[in-house]
Amino acid sequence: MTGCDKCRARAVIYQKYSGMHLCPAHFEDDVRRKIRESIRETGVFARPARVAVALDGGKNSSAMLCALKALFSKRRDVELIAVMIDEGIEGYRPQRLVAARALADGLEIPCVIKSLKDAVGLTIDEVASRDARDHAHDPCRVCKALRDILLNGAARELEADALATGHSLDDCARAILQSYLSGDIDGLLKQIRQNTGEVFRIKPLRRVPESEIALYAALQGIHPIVGGVCPYKGEAMAAEVKDVLDGFDDRHPGTKYSLLRSFDRIPIQ
Ligand code: SF4
Repeated sequence: MTGCDKCRARAVIYQKYSGMHLCPAHFEDDVRRKIRESIRETGVFARPARVAVALDGGKNSSAMLCALKALFSKRRDVELIAVMIDEGIEGYRPQRLVAARALADGLEIPCVIKSLKDAVGLTIDEVASRDARDHAHDPCRVCKALRDILLNGAARELEADALATGHSLDDCARAILQSYLSGDIDGLLKQIRQNTGEVFRIKPLRRVPESEIALYAALQGIHPIVGGVCPYKGEAMAAEVKDVLDGFDDRHPGTKYSLLRSFDRIPIQ
């Protein structure tokens, strides 16, 4: 049995980048410390705050909601409201909405659901079949843009001070590298300025690796939903960049953190 480097209890994880073995309790402390660091620099929770939390039933957003609840349950001046989007994807979204609502109810966090069909008159299933007919492609790109608009709109309606999204360290590092590789300066700036929309965005999990979010979620009793991959998940380049970055980070632990840290040093104009 490998012991925790902090208390000698049984370790559940070895962090290559830090060289630490951690038991469940110290691992959870470590995840929450990273979340605290990420949100402290946004300043959002330094004052009374109402925060809309984008919840999609997946492990990232579910883990984020649990962690935010744990961190702020004693703060009477912090209000969390879960926001879910129903894109209209049969066989995928309904199960996730049920799981997401059950989680929010269990944590006693109010939630609202916004439907794409109600907002724009089309579901993503309908967009996908229209695209297939017209030989267009990538309903995922359309879905992402519309989800973003609906999330912003919901946060505005709720008069939220910020919108929290469940992007992990892997998501952020991948987006930064991909923006560089494709010369997408707007995308790059969007990564720097968390505040490109009308509602201030925060990414509480931006310092937490994807694999650790999965472990944190499992320790909170959140398990992956069967049939969990969206049928329209697209963006071939994103998948390619992710593979390259994963391989590099495996051989050179800490690469994703280095990418994020160097990026954070770029001054915001
Ligand atoms: Fe929408 Fe793409 Fe997410 Fe599927 S993977 S829900 S299509 S944004």
